[in-house]
Amino acid sequence: METPKYRRIVLKLSGEALAGEKGFGIDHDILKAISLEVKEIRDRGVQVAIVVGGGNIWRGVTGSARGMDRATADYMGMLATVINALAMQDALEKQGVDTRVQTAIEMRQVAEPYIRRRAIRHLEKGRVVILAGGTGNPFFSTDTTAALRAAEIEAEVILMAKNVDGVYDSDPRTNPAAQKYKELEYLDVLNKGLGVMDSTAASLCMDNKIPLVVFGIRERGNILKAVMGDQIGTVVGR
Ligand code: UDP
Repeated sequence: METPKYRRIVLKLSGEALAGEKGFGIDHDILKAISLEVKEIRDRGVQVAIVVGGGNIWRGVTGSARGMDRATADYMGMLATVINALAMQDALEKQGVDTRVQTAIEMRQVAEPYIRRRAIRHLEKGRVVILAGGTGNPFFSTDTTAALRAAEIEAEVILMAKNVDGVYDSDPRTNPAAQKYKELEYLDVLNKGLGVMDSTAASLCMDNKIPLVVFGIRERGNILKAVMGDQIGTVVGR
């Protein structure tokens, strides 16, 4: 069997990816499909930390646009990621994968607190670690969380699963002529304002030299392909 290109990865699952066609809530068929793919790469010896988003349930900016205090709305978003993390945990354990949920916002009855060294230990034991609660701070995103945690746990890459199959020069959902990039640099993401991740996350990845693979989650088998280093989606580097 071919050896995976990466030994330790951060898989970023946006809320949107978990919601599927409905765009809201949790699609259990998608969770199951993702779990099977995660199990496959875990079985090949890849250490997997999953950072879950929350946009399928709540986004802080939506609340603040409606007049809510931004920090309060953001805390609601962080709690939403915990809901997704538990759903992901349940789906993975149904496939016989050992998991731990760690949250940046302490919630002892529900999950472990995020402790870097303990997260690494779980990974070394073959457990999938699901990182919830974002960074624990308002005004940040779960993309930034993925960048931060990847740097902390020394992951070699961030695999970003999206509903769109890569990074385009304009929105492919509204512009049929949109062109997909095969490769990009973080400076392009920042300078061209490409919507792949926010500037805080892109800067953190750039400064810590963490490559990113952006790919579509709807196409089955893509997580394995990304881990094997096959050319899929868009690779962002440097
Ligand atoms: N959030 C936050 N701090 C963090 C991570 C997330 O305040 O470190 C909040 C923020 O309100 C965000 C929401 O949680 O809108 C959900 O996260 P995100 O939008 O990143 O989820 P995704 O787009 O990946 O579904």
